[in-house]
Parts: sequence; C-alpha cells; structure tokens
Amino acid sequence: MGKHEDSWSDDPRDLLRADESVALSTIERDATPGWTGGKKAGKGFSRGRGDLLSELQERLFAEGRAGGDRSLLVVVQGLDTAGKGGVARHVLGMVDPQGVALRSFGAPSPEEQKHHFLWRIKKALPEPGLIGVFDRSHYEDVLVARVDELVTPDVWEKRYDEINAFEADLVESGTTIVKFGLVVSHDEQGERLMKRLDRPDKHWKYSANDIPTRRKWDAYQEAYADVFRRTSTEAAPWYVVPADHKWYSRLAITEILTQTLIEMDPEWPSVDWDPEEERAELAATLSTRALRRSLRDTDRQVEKAVADDRQVREEAAQAREEVAGDSDPVAEAEAEAREAEALATAAAAMVDLRRTRRQKAELLEERETAD
Ligand code: AMP
Ligand code: MG
Repeated sequence: MGKHEDSWSDDPRDLLRADESVALSTIERDATPGWTGGKKAGKGFSRGRGDLLSELQERLFAEGRAGGDRSLLVVVQGLDTAGKGGVARHVLGMVDPQGVALRSFGAPSPEEQKHHFLWRIKKALPEPGLIGVFDRSHYEDVLVARVDELVTPDVWEKRYDEINAFEADLVESGTTIVKFGLVVSHDEQGERLMKRLDRPDKHWKYSANDIPTRRKWDAYQEAYADVFRRTSTEAAPWYVVPADHKWYSRLAITEILTQTLIEMDPEWPSVDWDPEEERAELAATLSTRALRRSLRDTDRQVEKAVADDRQVREEAAQAREEVAGDSDPVAEAEAEAREAEALATAAAAMVDLRRTRRQKAELLEERETAD
C-alpha cells in the first residue's frame, strides 16, 4: 500500500453529508469523492481500518456492559442492488458479531400494519453498547409508501417531522445516529439486476417487483431527495454515498463509521478490583511452569510495547515535520497535541506493563525459592 499517495484528501463526512440543498441529479454515482487512490488501495485501506474499528466497537460494548447508555444506530437505505447488504457484510463483518444487531425491514406484516409506522422500529433499536444496523428502515414509510401511494400525501407529508422528532429523542437518550443513502445510477442498477437474472445462485435475490420498482425511478429519486433534504439534521445526518463502485461505498462508510466512533470516544470501563491483588491470587493457582510461561509472555509484550513506542515517536516526528513547513499555527498546535496524547498513552501502557512484569518476576522468584 502506498503510504502517502493513497488516502483521504478530506474527511468523507464533510464531502458526503447531505443538507437542504442536496440535488440528486448532480451526484455522480460513479465518483469516488475524497479518495485519492483506486480500487486496490481502497480495499486495502478499508481492511486496515478493521483493528481500530473493532477496538472502538469493543470499547462501546464494554461501556454498555458496565451500565453505559450509549449505542450507535447505522441506517442504510438505497434502491434495489445499491449494496445495502454488502455494507452490513463487509463493514460490520470487521467487528465482533456479538456487538452488532442487524435488522432488515420488509413490507410490514399484518400485525405491524395495525400500529404506527415507528412501532416496529422502536422494537428493533440497539441495546446500550451495541451497533444497530438497519437494512431499510422507517424511511421506507416516506419512500415506497409515498411512491406507491400506500398512504395519502397528508399522511406521509407529516412523517418527516415525526421522524426528525423521533431521532432527536433517540440521540438525546444516548444513541448516535448515522444514515447512509447509497445512490446507484440507473444503468448500474440495470446491470446488477441483469446479473441476478443470469446467475442461478443470485436468483433468490431477484424479486418480481424489481422491474416495476425500477420503472418508478424518477419518483424514487424525488422521494429520496426529499428524505435527504428534510431529515438530514445536526443530530442525525445523512451521508449520500455514490455506490456504482462498491469498493468506494464500503470504504467511505467504513471511514465515516470509524470517525464517528472515534468522536464517541468510548472508554474502557474502570473496574472496582485491583489487578495486582487478583494477579497474585491467580498466580498462586498456577504451576511453576505456567507462571514462567506467563512471565515470558509479558516479556514479549514489553518488547512489542518498546517497538510500538518507537514507532509512535517516529510518526509523530514525521507529522510535525509535515505541518512545520506550511506555517499554520493551528495545524501545528493540533499535531503537537496529538503527539503529546499518543506519547502519554504509550508511556502509561509501558509503565503498567513494567509493573506487571516486576510483580510476576517477584512471584516466580518466591515460588522458585519455595520449591
Ligand atoms: P428487500 O430489501 O429487497 O428484501 O425488499 C424488501 C421490500 O420491502 C422492499 O420492496 C421494500 O420497499 C419493502 N418495504 C420495506 N419497508 C416497507 C414499508 N414500511 N412499507 C412498504 N413496503 C416496505
Ligand atoms: Mg430486493
């Protein structure tokens, strides 16, 4: 992977975020905004996010276990073949499946039809600590419901405000919401549908409804534009993601989710017991051989931490050099703050590890003199 040339030129959140003026007709569905490389580098970069994404997810999960009330809700919308399922599979496949609650919404059941359109949605919301993914969502109630005239205009018309109020409440109670609208071109959708017809192993994905729905393309574009314009709020923003290149939509969504989780900054919960005491107690139950192996394991961790620390320092120095030239005092201060934070985190981890090592060495020594 080329280190400097293939990356994001801008935060995709800034580039893809929808506002009141979003015009779907001007969005190039085969564009790759903000990404400076091609497909191969994009896939590599996505994969490279896996470790960080999965650590952040685990922190969120741990926070939830410890009584935290935060969760993340990822809404994925798009026309047939836009790649909604692939987002769940590829992006969230990078994290522990235990921490993800995936829900797909099809046509409402007779039971669901008896209730308000948000009824089934409320039942499907992620528990604290989880990342909830909606493959289709309450937005179908202003998309298919509007285009197919399942309800009268006065009914769907007031749903936008209802949705905004509902989402604002959710955010208020600890759920971060990000919404992705995958937009494919008419031709690309046609070709993807054709592939489903051509391949017997894809027939199950094809629906007799797909062509009738495709014929209503313009009405759907209009309905989608209204969704983006009217429900992209500060609390729950929409990102309109060009989806003709699946690698790009996955890359962009991976990056936006990573940045969102970084900002949520989930913390490992503190524990109310003392690791040193517990370690001594557990060590007493280990054989001398096992205790020796455990000490060797800590030695390896110390070695790795030393190497990591060196790398953090080198990268920090390099980052500082890069901003030093453009005499931007804000960027320089930011780089310095990031460097200080990285160094402090690495140093704290090192102190912890050294203390652990010392304790184990002492325990082993006591054991060996006793044996
Ligand atoms: P798929 O995602 O391809 O399995 O298709 C699910 C189908 O359910 C799509 O045709 C959606 O338009 C339809 N659907 C989802 N939510 C609703 C809703 N609230 N009202 C009517 N149809 C819906
Ligand atoms: Mg379908």
